[in-house]
Amino acid sequence: MATMQAAQVPEAEGDFEIVEKDVPAPGLGEVRVAVEACGVCHSDEFVKEGQFPGIEYPRVPGHEVVGTVDAVGDGVDQWDEGQRVGVGWHGGHCFECEACRNGDFVNCENGQVTGIHFDGGYAEYLVAPQEAVAQMPEALDAQEAAPLLCAGITTYNALRNSGAEGGALVAVQGIGGLGHLAVQYAQKMGFEVAALSHSPDKEDLARELGADHFIFSEDTDPAEALQDLGGARVILATAPVSEAITAVTGGLGRNGTLLIVAATGEPVEVSPMALIQGRQSVAGWPSGDAQDSEDTLRFSARTGATPMIETYPLAEAGAAYDRMIENEARFRVVLDVNGSS
Ligand SMILES: [Zn+2]
Ligand SMILES: [Zn+2]
Repeated sequence: MATMQAAQVPEAEGDFEIVEKDVPAPGLGEVRVAVEACGVCHSDEFVKEGQFPGIEYPRVPGHEVVGTVDAVGDGVDQWDEGQRVGVGWHGGHCFECEACRNGDFVNCENGQVTGIHFDGGYAEYLVAPQEAVAQMPEALDAQEAAPLLCAGITTYNALRNSGAEGGALVAVQGIGGLGHLAVQYAQKMGFEVAALSHSPDKEDLARELGADHFIFSEDTDPAEALQDLGGARVILATAPVSEAITAVTGGLGRNGTLLIVAATGEPVEVSPMALIQGRQSVAGWPSGDAQDSEDTLRFSARTGATPMIETYPLAEAGAAYDRMIENEARFRVVLDVNGSS
């Protein structure tokens, strides 16, 4: 049987190890992908540190996967060998629960996560349910496209569903892995974009990425600064620092929405009076399903909105993960797998 190289976590809190594994065979309704590139995401911490309920080991993480369909299982009509595809966080759904019957696959009660419920893209091959697979435009470079399957879809999908119309003032809180993509998407969707950051050295970059305004939130009150611009229709919170999110909520304008994609368990404070008077709201947004991934990828290909990345070979997955988790990378880390396809 053919074997492949994979980077796996042997047990909760264990170190990455590079192993030879059997190339997995696609079962009923499954697709095998020869991996070209896989992004390293902060949520891979769930695997590394054993934070996901019920996760089994050893486990190969990775939910920002780009590659080529290499084999399909029985019952797969939609995908053929040779197609270029991506696989993101949403790793399949049951089609039967209440959420699925409403077409809300992201909220499936029996939903799977790529690289958590089944082995992900830190490997030369992975097998995924066919409904988790997204078509990948040829125009996108594999390494650059990988983070779009998680950081990209999350910010793109949140913005396009935010209710803001072209020309509205949209603020992006935090210019990091998510935020540097959000600024590009917001600008290319036609919004007036304000970038908010605690780092003054992000100003040039934020403006290059398309920000019309840069608010340095250490020496300016970010809420006042946004009110001076007329009040934000949407504040997209991308940096998981609850005090920083609390500090910007006063910048919402009439009908404004604080839209949170920054994953933190710490509470955010809002003023009920401000919410009531301005008819404002606070909301969260999950990433999206494979169709949302396709929309994200197509939009990125059309507009050239791509992440800034640092690449590492698969054999250095441990170092790549450390670089990401220590917040050193500008801005997304990608494993160059490009094995056998
Ligand atoms: Zn992710
Ligand atoms: Zn379901």
